[in-house]
Amino acid sequence: MELESARKNLVKISGHLYQQGLVPGKSGNISCKIGVENDFKVLITPSGVSLRDVDEKKVIIVDQEGKQLSGQGKPSSELKMHLNIYKKRDDVQGVVHTHSPYATGFSFSKENISRMEGFGPVESPQIHVVEYAAPGTDELAEIASRALENDDVLILKDHGVLVVGKNLDDAALLAEFTESTAKTEFVARIISREPIQVHLKRSR
Ligand SMILES: [Zn+2]
Repeated sequence: MELESARKNLVKISGHLYQQGLVPGKSGNISCKIGVENDFKVLITPSGVSLRDVDEKKVIIVDQEGKQLSGQGKPSSELKMHLNIYKKRDDVQGVVHTHSPYATGFSFSKENISRMEGFGPVESPQIHVVEYAAPGTDELAEIASRALENDDVLILKDHGVLVVGKNLDDAALLAEFTESTAKTEFVARIISREPIQVHLKRSR
């Protein structure tokens, strides 16, 4: 029962994140954990499939070592990153990785995104950025999961966004909030520059 509802929810949230424009094309991947500490399974989106097109048959289920138990296709190439997070964080049951455009734009710049009101207790004024590691590598899995030991949101340098939550719904909401925060900061920075000068022509 837990498995069936988790699978349905993963499909629903995949479609929602796509509709929100947070995982354009075939980018992004999400997962959730079921079971208990030291005996859990992970449901994750498949590799090479748009989150728009994920249905229940395509949801991949793996054991805690990453061995595929069911689902059509192969698990996301970022499976290891998801597994490492679940191993390090008992309190986390949902992981969302997006390439949402504004936050990812910041990741390709030298600018940071401020932790605006709504991110909970502020321990750092800005969302933490981890150094670049190629997508799908053990290196990225290690760097990202280590940085999330004490945080719930992370910018992957020159790549995208990674968030965790006590369940998948929470992680998805935090991913949305991160993107809207990046958008707000972008707008604020643009409009606080010197106003543009408008030269009016008088009509005769
Ligand atoms: Zn990615």
